[in-house]
Amino acid sequence: MKIYRIIVIVCLGGLLSNCADEFRNLDQEDISRTELILSADDYGPYGKEIANIKATVLGRKLFQGIAIPITLVYKPDLGKRTVGYLGNGKIGYCFLSYPAEPILFHELFHVFQTRAEVVASRNNEIEAYVAQYLFCKSVDPVHVDDVFEAISASFEQLIKQLADYAEWNTSSQKNSQKFHELYSRALAELRESNLYGTHTNYTEEREPYSFPNLYLLLNVIK
Ligand SMILES: [Zn+2]
Repeated sequence: MKIYRIIVIVCLGGLLSNCADEFRNLDQEDISRTELILSADDYGPYGKEIANIKATVLGRKLFQGIAIPITLVYKPDLGKRTVGYLGNGKIGYCFLSYPAEPILFHELFHVFQTRAEVVASRNNEIEAYVAQYLFCKSVDPVHVDDVFEAISASFEQLIKQLADYAEWNTSSQKNSQKFHELYSRALAELRESNLYGTHTNYTEEREPYSFPNLYLLLNVIK
């Protein structure tokens, strides 16, 4: 972190003082070293929260699956959102409620789902909310209802019921009528919501529905 900051300051200082020649004089080894450091994780003020996530079983597995550097970027212009995935491992935030771990886990799950890409998908949101709920439940099963928050109380209920199917394999999910009924109701709620509604750029995949990324996280990654 410190080295990263020093390099950024040195780069900025160099640019401001117009010392471009000094940059041309950097040999190849220095440049690749700089790139390596610039692509390291940077959790901003949330290092402790990320460490807490990594200390859980689900968090450890999630980071194992993500496999690209994560950067938390302060973005006061996010509008109605308090947090959002910006692509290339960058998670933008303007405000994180306390405790911040559940929403950070949700955003990290989006990185796991789409890697460097940004995909505005209602299906991905349902899966990410189920992942967030399972994370909250694994950390504190007694107070999970106080900690887990989603767009509405009725949506939270649907997510909790869908979480019962999270351990199922994807073909069993695709063949379950009850799973589809719950999933369809959750999609209907998202279509009406401010953040993910039909007036936004969010789209959705048609059925059969399933949780392919959750399946990987829960059953494949050791
Ligand atoms: Zn999300």
